[in-house]
Amino acid sequence: MLNSKECMALEAQYGAKNYKPIPVVISKAKGVFVWDPEGKKYLDCLSAYSAVNQGHLHPKIIRAVKKQLRKVTLTSRAFHNDRLGQYLKTLSEFTGLEVVLPMNTGAEAVETGIKIARRWGYRIKKVPQGQAEILIANENFHGRTTTIIGFSTDEGSREDFGPFTPGFTNIPYNDTEALEKAINQNTIAFMVEPIQGEAGVIIPDEGYLSKVSAICKKHNVLLILDEIQTGFGRTGKMFCFQHENVMPDILLVGKALSGGILPVSAAITRHEIMDVITPGSHGSTFGGNPLGCAAAEAALQVLKDEKLDERSQELGLYFLQGIQKIASPLFKEVRGKGLLIAIELTDQAGGARQYTEKLKEKGILAKETHKTIIRFAPPLVIKKKEIDWALSVIKDVFTV
Ligand SMILES: *Cc1c(COP(=O)(O)O)cnc(C)c1O
Repeated sequence: MLNSKECMALEAQYGAKNYKPIPVVISKAKGVFVWDPEGKKYLDCLSAYSAVNQGHLHPKIIRAVKKQLRKVTLTSRAFHNDRLGQYLKTLSEFTGLEVVLPMNTGAEAVETGIKIARRWGYRIKKVPQGQAEILIANENFHGRTTTIIGFSTDEGSREDFGPFTPGFTNIPYNDTEALEKAINQNTIAFMVEPIQGEAGVIIPDEGYLSKVSAICKKHNVLLILDEIQTGFGRTGKMFCFQHENVMPDILLVGKALSGGILPVSAAITRHEIMDVITPGSHGSTFGGNPLGCAAAEAALQVLKDEKLDERSQELGLYFLQGIQKIASPLFKEVRGKGLLIAIELTDQAGGARQYTEKLKEKGILAKETHKTIIRFAPPLVIKKKEIDWALSVIKDVFTV
Protein backbone atom coordinates (compact mmCIF):
# COMPACT_ATOMS: atom_id res chain seq x y z
CA MET A 1 0.00 0.00 0.00
CA LEU A 2 1.24 3.49 -0.79
CA ASN A 3 1.76 6.06 1.94
CA SER A 4 0.30 9.57 1.79
CA LYS A 5 3.45 11.13 0.39
CA GLU A 6 3.67 8.60 -2.41
CA CYS A 7 0.00 9.03 -3.32
CA MET A 8 0.34 12.80 -3.54
CA ALA A 9 3.56 12.54 -5.56
CA LEU A 10 1.88 10.29 -8.14
CA GLU A 11 -1.07 12.68 -8.47
CA ALA A 12 1.33 15.58 -8.89
CA GLN A 13 3.30 13.83 -11.60
CA TYR A 14 0.54 12.18 -13.60
CA GLY A 15 -2.53 14.27 -12.89
CA ALA A 16 -3.75 17.53 -14.40
CA LYS A 17 -3.44 20.30 -11.85
CA ASN A 18 -7.08 21.38 -11.95
CA TYR A 19 -7.39 21.13 -8.15
CA LYS A 20 -5.31 22.29 -5.23
CA PRO A 21 -6.35 19.79 -2.55
CA ILE A 22 -5.68 20.05 1.16
CA PRO A 23 -2.60 17.83 1.61
CA VAL A 24 -4.36 14.80 3.03
CA VAL A 25 -4.94 11.40 1.43
CA ILE A 26 -8.13 9.53 2.29
CA SER A 27 -7.97 5.78 2.06
CA LYS A 28 -10.92 4.74 4.19
CA ALA A 29 -14.20 6.22 5.40
CA LYS A 30 -17.18 5.40 7.58
CA GLY A 31 -20.05 7.66 8.55
CA VAL A 32 -18.68 11.10 9.41
CA PHE A 33 -15.05 9.97 9.62
CA VAL A 34 -12.27 9.35 7.13
CA TRP A 35 -8.78 7.91 7.61
CA ASP A 36 -5.47 8.43 5.84
CA PRO A 37 -3.12 5.55 4.90
CA GLU A 38 -1.13 6.11 8.11
CA GLY A 39 -4.30 5.54 10.13
CA LYS A 40 -4.93 9.11 11.24
CA LYS A 41 -8.65 9.82 11.69
CA TYR A 42 -10.43 12.96 10.54
CA LEU A 43 -13.93 14.38 10.85
CA ASP A 44 -15.21 15.08 7.34
CA CYS A 45 -16.69 18.57 7.32
CA LEU A 46 -17.02 18.82 3.55
CA SER A 47 -18.93 15.62 2.73
CA ALA A 48 -17.59 15.73 -0.84
CA TYR A 49 -19.36 19.05 -1.39
CA SER A 50 -22.56 17.66 0.18
CA ALA A 51 -22.60 14.43 -1.84
CA VAL A 52 -22.39 12.22 1.26
CA ASN A 53 -25.21 13.68 3.36
CA GLN A 54 -26.11 10.13 4.44
CA GLY A 55 -22.55 9.53 5.71
CA HIS A 56 -19.79 7.51 4.07
CA LEU A 57 -20.62 3.89 3.22
CA HIS A 58 -24.09 3.95 4.69
CA PRO A 59 -24.81 0.24 5.35
CA LYS A 60 -28.31 0.34 3.80
CA ILE A 61 -27.07 1.96 0.61
CA ILE A 62 -24.08 -0.38 0.41
CA ARG A 63 -26.36 -3.38 0.88
CA ALA A 64 -28.67 -2.24 -1.93
CA VAL A 65 -25.72 -1.60 -4.25
CA LYS A 66 -24.10 -4.96 -3.49
CA LYS A 67 -27.39 -6.71 -4.16
CA GLN A 68 -27.75 -4.92 -7.49
CA LEU A 69 -24.11 -5.73 -8.38
CA ARG A 70 -25.07 -9.39 -8.52
CA LYS A 71 -27.82 -8.69 -11.07
CA VAL A 72 -27.11 -6.03 -13.69
CA THR A 73 -25.28 -2.66 -13.64
CA LEU A 74 -25.78 -1.12 -17.07
CA THR A 75 -28.26 -1.63 -19.86
CA SER A 76 -28.25 1.75 -21.63
CA ARG A 77 -31.61 3.28 -22.41
CA ALA A 78 -31.83 1.33 -25.65
CA PHE A 79 -33.61 -1.20 -23.44
CA HIS A 80 -35.72 -0.93 -20.31
CA ASN A 81 -34.32 -2.06 -16.98
CA ASP A 82 -36.25 -3.35 -14.01
CA ARG A 83 -34.95 -0.68 -11.58
CA LEU A 84 -35.59 2.51 -13.47
CA GLY A 85 -39.37 2.87 -13.26
CA GLN A 86 -39.60 2.34 -9.53
CA TYR A 87 -36.71 4.76 -8.97
CA LEU A 88 -38.29 7.48 -11.12
CA LYS A 89 -41.54 7.09 -9.19
CA THR A 90 -39.75 7.31 -5.85
CA LEU A 91 -37.79 10.41 -6.86
CA SER A 92 -40.83 12.16 -8.37
CA GLU A 93 -42.84 11.60 -5.22
CA PHE A 94 -39.91 12.61 -3.03
CA THR A 95 -39.69 16.00 -4.74
CA GLY A 96 -43.41 16.65 -5.26
CA LEU A 97 -42.88 16.99 -9.01
CA GLU A 98 -44.08 14.63 -11.73
CA VAL A 99 -41.47 13.42 -14.15
CA VAL A 100 -37.72 12.79 -14.12
CA LEU A 101 -34.94 12.85 -16.70
CA PRO A 102 -32.06 10.83 -15.23
CA MET A 103 -28.45 11.88 -15.80
CA ASN A 104 -25.15 11.36 -13.94
CA THR A 105 -23.29 14.49 -12.89
CA GLY A 106 -24.65 17.77 -11.63
CA ALA A 107 -23.43 19.64 -14.68
CA GLU A 108 -25.40 17.23 -16.87
CA ALA A 109 -28.55 17.89 -14.87
CA VAL A 110 -27.98 21.62 -15.41
CA GLU A 111 -27.45 21.14 -19.16
CA THR A 112 -30.62 19.05 -19.22
CA GLY A 113 -32.57 21.78 -17.44
CA ILE A 114 -31.33 24.31 -20.00
CA LYS A 115 -32.37 22.10 -22.90
CA ILE A 116 -35.83 21.42 -21.47
CA ALA A 117 -36.36 25.13 -20.81
CA ARG A 118 -35.25 26.16 -24.29
CA ARG A 119 -37.52 23.66 -26.04
CA TRP A 120 -40.39 24.72 -23.80
CA GLY A 121 -39.58 28.32 -24.72
CA TYR A 122 -39.80 27.70 -28.45
CA ARG A 123 -42.59 25.14 -28.54
CA ILE A 124 -44.91 26.27 -25.73
CA LYS A 125 -44.08 29.90 -24.96
CA LYS A 126 -43.48 30.52 -28.70
CA VAL A 127 -40.34 32.59 -28.40
CA PRO A 128 -38.88 33.27 -31.89
CA GLN A 129 -36.31 30.68 -32.99
CA GLY A 130 -32.81 31.35 -31.63
CA GLN A 131 -33.96 34.13 -29.28
CA ALA A 132 -34.59 32.26 -26.03
CA GLU A 133 -32.96 33.93 -23.07
CA ILE A 134 -32.20 32.44 -19.64
CA LEU A 135 -31.46 34.64 -16.64
CA ILE A 136 -28.67 33.59 -14.29
CA ALA A 137 -27.47 35.05 -10.98
CA ASN A 138 -24.04 36.56 -10.51
CA GLU A 139 -21.60 34.48 -8.42
CA ASN A 140 -23.47 31.36 -9.55
CA PHE A 141 -21.98 27.90 -9.59
CA HIS A 142 -23.73 25.40 -11.84
CA GLY A 143 -20.86 23.19 -13.00
CA ARG A 144 -17.97 23.09 -15.44
CA THR A 145 -19.15 22.52 -19.01
CA THR A 146 -18.32 25.15 -21.61
CA THR A 147 -21.94 26.35 -21.71
CA ILE A 148 -22.20 26.59 -17.94
CA ILE A 149 -18.90 28.40 -17.36
CA GLY A 150 -19.91 30.83 -20.08
CA PHE A 151 -22.37 32.43 -17.64
CA SER A 152 -20.12 32.13 -14.59
CA THR A 153 -18.89 35.40 -13.12
CA ASP A 154 -15.81 33.71 -11.68
CA GLU A 155 -12.92 34.69 -13.96
CA GLY A 156 -10.84 31.69 -12.86
CA SER A 157 -13.39 29.24 -14.23
CA ARG A 158 -13.92 30.91 -17.61
CA GLU A 159 -10.66 32.60 -18.57
CA ASP A 160 -9.52 31.52 -22.05
CA PHE A 161 -12.23 28.87 -22.46
CA GLY A 162 -14.40 30.90 -24.84
CA PRO A 163 -16.18 31.51 -27.13
CA PHE A 164 -19.22 30.90 -24.99
CA THR A 165 -22.82 29.84 -25.62
CA PRO A 166 -25.11 32.85 -26.12
CA GLY A 167 -28.59 33.16 -24.62
CA PHE A 168 -27.75 33.84 -20.97
CA THR A 169 -28.02 37.12 -19.08
CA ASN A 170 -26.57 37.66 -15.62
CA ILE A 171 -28.39 39.57 -12.92
CA PRO A 172 -27.45 40.28 -9.26
CA TYR A 173 -28.33 37.55 -6.73
CA ASN A 174 -30.88 38.30 -4.03
CA ASP A 175 -32.35 41.15 -6.06
CA THR A 176 -35.95 40.65 -7.16
CA GLU A 177 -36.19 44.11 -8.72
CA ALA A 178 -33.28 43.28 -11.01
CA LEU A 179 -35.04 40.04 -11.93
CA GLU A 180 -38.27 41.73 -12.87
CA LYS A 181 -36.43 44.40 -14.82
CA ALA A 182 -34.38 41.86 -16.76
CA ILE A 183 -37.38 39.86 -17.96
CA ASN A 184 -38.44 40.52 -21.56
CA GLN A 185 -40.70 38.69 -24.04
CA ASN A 186 -37.89 36.25 -24.90
CA THR A 187 -37.06 35.31 -21.32
CA ILE A 188 -37.87 31.66 -20.82
CA ALA A 189 -36.29 30.86 -17.45
CA PHE A 190 -34.43 32.03 -14.38
CA MET A 191 -31.94 29.48 -13.09
CA VAL A 192 -30.73 30.01 -9.55
CA GLU A 193 -29.34 28.30 -6.44
CA PRO A 194 -31.57 28.79 -3.36
CA ILE A 195 -28.33 29.30 -1.41
CA GLN A 196 -25.11 29.92 -3.30
CA GLY A 197 -22.84 27.19 -1.94
CA GLU A 198 -19.65 27.61 -3.94
CA ALA A 199 -19.87 31.39 -3.73
CA GLY A 200 -19.38 30.93 0.02
CA VAL A 201 -22.77 29.95 1.43
CA ILE A 202 -24.51 33.14 0.36
CA ILE A 203 -27.99 33.07 1.91
CA PRO A 204 -30.52 35.41 0.29
CA ASP A 205 -33.03 37.45 2.29
CA GLU A 206 -36.04 35.68 3.67
CA GLY A 207 -38.79 35.84 1.11
CA TYR A 208 -36.42 36.03 -1.85
CA LEU A 209 -37.40 32.68 -3.28
CA SER A 210 -41.14 33.20 -2.88
CA LYS A 211 -40.89 36.62 -4.56
CA VAL A 212 -38.79 35.10 -7.34
CA SER A 213 -41.39 32.40 -7.80
CA ALA A 214 -44.23 34.94 -8.00
CA ILE A 215 -42.35 37.08 -10.54
CA CYS A 216 -41.57 34.05 -12.71
CA LYS A 217 -45.22 32.95 -12.65
CA LYS A 218 -46.46 36.42 -13.51
CA HIS A 219 -44.26 36.58 -16.61
CA ASN A 220 -44.57 32.93 -17.68
CA VAL A 221 -40.88 32.36 -16.98
CA LEU A 222 -39.72 28.94 -15.72
CA LEU A 223 -38.07 28.86 -12.33
CA ILE A 224 -35.16 26.41 -12.48
CA LEU A 225 -33.78 25.67 -9.03
CA ASP A 226 -30.32 24.15 -8.81
CA GLU A 227 -30.50 22.16 -5.55
CA ILE A 228 -27.55 19.98 -6.42
CA GLN A 229 -25.77 21.17 -3.28
CA THR A 230 -28.66 22.40 -1.13
CA GLY A 231 -30.96 19.43 -1.71
CA PHE A 232 -31.56 16.26 0.29
CA GLY A 233 -31.63 17.70 3.77
CA ARG A 234 -28.50 19.83 3.66
CA THR A 235 -30.20 23.07 4.71
CA GLY A 236 -32.65 21.65 7.25
CA LYS A 237 -35.44 20.74 4.83
CA MET A 238 -35.36 17.99 2.22
CA PHE A 239 -35.13 20.82 -0.33
CA CYS A 240 -34.21 24.40 0.32
CA PHE A 241 -37.31 25.62 -1.57
CA GLN A 242 -39.46 24.09 1.18
CA HIS A 243 -38.30 26.81 3.58
CA GLU A 244 -40.45 29.21 1.55
CA ASN A 245 -43.22 26.96 0.34
CA VAL A 246 -42.48 27.45 -3.33
CA MET A 247 -42.27 24.86 -6.08
CA PRO A 248 -39.73 25.13 -8.88
CA ASP A 249 -40.83 24.45 -12.44
CA ILE A 250 -37.63 22.49 -13.01
CA LEU A 251 -35.62 21.05 -10.13
CA LEU A 252 -31.99 20.00 -10.60
CA VAL A 253 -30.52 17.46 -8.21
CA GLY A 254 -27.33 15.41 -7.97
CA LYS A 255 -24.62 14.94 -5.35
CA ALA A 256 -26.34 13.33 -2.32
CA LEU A 257 -28.98 11.71 -4.54
CA SER A 258 -26.85 8.54 -4.51
CA GLY A 259 -25.37 9.00 -1.03
CA GLY A 260 -21.90 9.39 -2.48
CA ILE A 261 -21.73 6.02 -4.19
CA LEU A 262 -22.04 6.91 -7.87
CA PRO A 263 -22.68 10.01 -9.94
CA VAL A 264 -26.47 10.16 -10.16
CA SER A 265 -28.31 13.36 -11.10
CA ALA A 266 -31.66 14.39 -12.53
CA ALA A 267 -33.78 17.17 -13.93
CA ILE A 268 -37.31 16.92 -12.56
CA THR A 269 -40.37 18.82 -13.69
CA ARG A 270 -44.06 18.57 -14.61
CA HIS A 271 -45.44 16.64 -17.56
CA GLU A 272 -46.56 19.73 -19.49
CA ILE A 273 -42.93 20.91 -19.52
CA MET A 274 -41.08 17.58 -19.87
CA ASP A 275 -43.34 16.61 -22.79
CA VAL A 276 -41.19 18.76 -25.10
CA ILE A 277 -38.46 16.13 -24.72
CA THR A 278 -38.99 13.48 -27.40
CA PRO A 279 -37.08 10.30 -28.35
CA GLY A 280 -33.65 11.18 -29.69
CA SER A 281 -33.61 14.73 -28.34
CA HIS A 282 -31.55 14.01 -25.23
CA GLY A 283 -29.86 11.11 -23.48
CA SER A 284 -26.99 9.58 -21.59
CA THR A 285 -25.34 6.16 -21.77
CA PHE A 286 -25.14 5.78 -18.01
CA GLY A 287 -28.16 7.93 -17.06
CA GLY A 288 -30.78 5.77 -15.36
CA ASN A 289 -28.46 2.77 -15.02
CA PRO A 290 -29.79 0.10 -12.65
CA LEU A 291 -26.83 0.34 -10.27
CA GLY A 292 -27.29 4.09 -9.89
CA CYS A 293 -31.05 3.60 -9.47
CA ALA A 294 -30.47 1.07 -6.68
CA ALA A 295 -28.05 3.41 -4.90
CA ALA A 296 -30.33 6.42 -5.25
CA GLU A 297 -33.46 4.64 -4.12
CA ALA A 298 -31.69 3.42 -1.00
CA ALA A 299 -30.13 6.86 -0.44
CA LEU A 300 -33.58 8.50 -0.56
CA GLN A 301 -34.96 5.90 1.82
CA VAL A 302 -32.16 6.61 4.32
CA LEU A 303 -32.88 10.34 4.22
CA LYS A 304 -36.51 9.61 5.08
CA ASP A 305 -35.99 6.82 7.63
CA GLU A 306 -33.37 8.74 9.58
CA LYS A 307 -35.19 12.08 9.20
CA LEU A 308 -31.93 13.64 8.11
CA ASP A 309 -33.68 16.90 7.22
CA GLU A 310 -34.78 17.35 10.83
CA ARG A 311 -31.36 16.36 12.16
CA SER A 312 -29.79 18.89 9.81
CA GLN A 313 -32.11 21.62 11.05
CA GLU A 314 -31.52 20.91 14.71
CA LEU A 315 -27.82 20.09 14.70
CA GLY A 316 -27.10 22.78 12.13
CA LEU A 317 -28.44 25.42 14.45
CA TYR A 318 -26.43 23.93 17.33
CA PHE A 319 -23.22 23.91 15.26
CA LEU A 320 -23.83 27.42 13.91
CA GLN A 321 -24.50 28.93 17.34
CA GLY A 322 -21.49 27.08 18.71
CA ILE A 323 -19.20 28.66 16.11
CA GLN A 324 -20.79 32.07 16.61
CA LYS A 325 -20.13 31.77 20.34
CA ILE A 326 -16.41 31.34 19.67
CA ALA A 327 -16.55 34.94 18.48
CA SER A 328 -12.98 35.00 17.22
CA PRO A 329 -11.75 38.43 16.09
CA LEU A 330 -10.73 36.63 12.89
CA PHE A 331 -14.41 36.05 12.04
CA LYS A 332 -16.10 38.59 9.82
CA GLU A 333 -19.34 36.62 9.70
CA VAL A 334 -20.56 33.17 10.64
CA ARG A 335 -23.67 32.10 8.71
CA GLY A 336 -25.55 29.00 7.74
CA LYS A 337 -28.78 27.15 7.19
CA GLY A 338 -29.08 23.59 8.44
CA LEU A 339 -25.71 21.89 8.21
CA LEU A 340 -24.46 24.22 5.48
CA ILE A 341 -22.33 26.62 7.47
CA ALA A 342 -19.60 29.10 6.59
CA ILE A 343 -17.10 31.19 8.44
CA GLU A 344 -16.08 34.30 6.54
CA LEU A 345 -12.75 35.58 7.80
CA THR A 346 -11.65 39.18 8.05
CA ASP A 347 -9.10 40.50 5.58
CA GLN A 348 -6.61 40.68 8.44
CA ALA A 349 -6.86 36.91 8.94
CA GLY A 350 -4.56 36.49 5.94
CA GLY A 351 -6.54 34.00 3.84
CA ALA A 352 -8.54 30.90 4.71
CA ARG A 353 -6.08 28.29 3.45
CA GLN A 354 -3.74 28.41 6.44
CA TYR A 355 -6.72 27.71 8.71
CA THR A 356 -8.06 24.79 6.68
CA GLU A 357 -4.56 23.31 6.84
CA LYS A 358 -4.42 23.86 10.61
CA LEU A 359 -7.87 22.28 10.98
CA LYS A 360 -6.57 19.30 9.01
CA GLU A 361 -3.58 18.96 11.35
CA LYS A 362 -6.03 18.82 14.25
CA GLY A 363 -8.32 16.31 12.58
CA ILE A 364 -11.02 18.31 10.77
CA LEU A 365 -11.32 18.31 7.00
CA ALA A 366 -12.89 21.48 5.65
CA LYS A 367 -12.24 23.42 2.48
CA GLU A 368 -11.85 27.09 1.81
CA THR A 369 -14.00 28.59 -0.91
CA HIS A 370 -12.73 31.79 -2.44
CA LYS A 371 -9.96 33.35 -0.41
CA THR A 372 -11.62 34.10 2.92
CA ILE A 373 -14.47 31.63 3.44
CA ILE A 374 -14.44 28.19 5.07
CA ARG A 375 -17.43 25.90 4.64
CA PHE A 376 -18.50 23.36 7.27
CA ALA A 377 -20.90 20.78 5.87
CA PRO A 378 -20.49 17.45 7.66
CA PRO A 379 -22.60 14.41 6.81
CA LEU A 380 -26.09 14.88 8.25
CA VAL A 381 -25.64 11.79 10.43
CA ILE A 382 -23.18 13.70 12.63
CA LYS A 383 -23.82 13.44 16.38
CA LYS A 384 -23.94 16.20 18.93
CA LYS A 385 -20.82 15.01 20.72
CA GLU A 386 -18.92 15.06 17.41
CA ILE A 387 -20.02 18.63 16.87
CA ASP A 388 -18.85 19.47 20.42
CA TRP A 389 -15.44 18.06 19.59
CA ALA A 390 -15.35 19.98 16.29
CA LEU A 391 -16.24 23.18 18.13
CA SER A 392 -13.34 22.69 20.53
CA VAL A 393 -10.94 22.27 17.60
CA ILE A 394 -12.36 25.27 15.73
CA LYS A 395 -12.03 27.34 18.88
CA ASP A 396 -8.43 26.22 19.25
CA VAL A 397 -7.55 27.09 15.63
CA PHE A 398 -9.17 30.53 15.68
CA THR A 399 -8.05 31.65 19.12
CA VAL A 400 -5.48 34.40 18.67
C1 LIG B 1 -21.58 20.66 -7.49
C2 LIG B 1 -22.59 21.51 -8.13
C3 LIG B 1 -22.89 21.41 -9.50
C4 LIG B 1 -22.12 20.51 -10.45
O1 LIG B 1 -22.15 19.17 -10.10
P1 LIG B 1 -21.06 18.16 -10.72
O2 LIG B 1 -21.54 16.82 -10.28
O3 LIG B 1 -19.74 18.54 -10.14
O4 LIG B 1 -21.08 18.34 -12.20
C5 LIG B 1 -23.90 22.21 -10.01
N1 LIG B 1 -24.57 23.06 -9.22
C6 LIG B 1 -24.31 23.20 -7.92
C7 LIG B 1 -25.09 24.14 -7.09
C8 LIG B 1 -23.29 22.44 -7.31
O5 LIG B 1 -23.00 22.61 -6.02
